[in-house]
Amino acid sequence: MDIDKKYMPEFAARKAICDIGRRMYEKDFVAANDGNISIKVGKNMIICTPTGVSKGYMTPDMLVKMNMKGEVISGKLKPSSEIKMHLRVYQENDTVMAVTHAHPPIATSFAIAGIELDQALLPEAVVMLGTVRIAPYATPGTQEVPDSIAPFCKTDNAVLLANHGALTWGRDITEAYHRLESLEYYAKIVMYTSSIIGKTNLLSCSQVNQLIDLKHKMGIHTGGLPTCSISESNMGPFQTIEVKESEISKEQMLEQIAAKVTQAVLAKLK
Ligand SMILES: [Zn+2]
Repeated sequence: MDIDKKYMPEFAARKAICDIGRRMYEKDFVAANDGNISIKVGKNMIICTPTGVSKGYMTPDMLVKMNMKGEVISGKLKPSSEIKMHLRVYQENDTVMAVTHAHPPIATSFAIAGIELDQALLPEAVVMLGTVRIAPYATPGTQEVPDSIAPFCKTDNAVLLANHGALTWGRDITEAYHRLESLEYYAKIVMYTSSIIGKTNLLSCSQVNQLIDLKHKMGIHTGGLPTCSISESNMGPFQTIEVKESEISKEQMLEQIAAKVTQAVLAKLK
């Protein structure tokens, strides 16, 4: 069953965490000592970032080795209390090999505003993320945080933590971190288009379906379906129909789109 599961060697994982920490810091995803990163290096073992250090200036020896119960195996520094939520992601979804958490300012602003990122605007975001929902607020470091993110771990690729930040995971550290970058970029584009430019053209549902096929070919079956649009040429740009379907199958979605088109055409004929 675990044939395709490969764990990163421990030293490579330590170097990768330092590298990702530097990138997170340079991109302003974290302030001061914020953020944390972990990689699964064995069935019951992770390497993770310590508390109280800037993620931009870590060396491999500063990292903590921990088991899935949260017990420290080695490391002279203490692990972050937020590692509880990493452990929960690994427990909920055994395909996850790495988790990143940061406070990227634009994605965090959406988490504060309570606005989910669920529109089909960018092909990359449709493939890499799908939709990004918001986990209810919980005091950082408490057991409520892992409980708040648990419902998203199997179905989603990322989650916004209300009034706190962002959490992403993946089949390796590159995928987990790229999802964090994609999330912040997606949030930035939503902010520009909806709040600054004030106009958004969604990808059409057929364009989204093509992207979903592509995503499945890449072996990604997680992440919801973002809101897409269908606009028939005779309807004009202001009669776009939006179809929001995050939970249902593609077939069900297509059926509903067909029903909405029929309704719209009938309404026009009246
Ligand atoms: Zn945090």
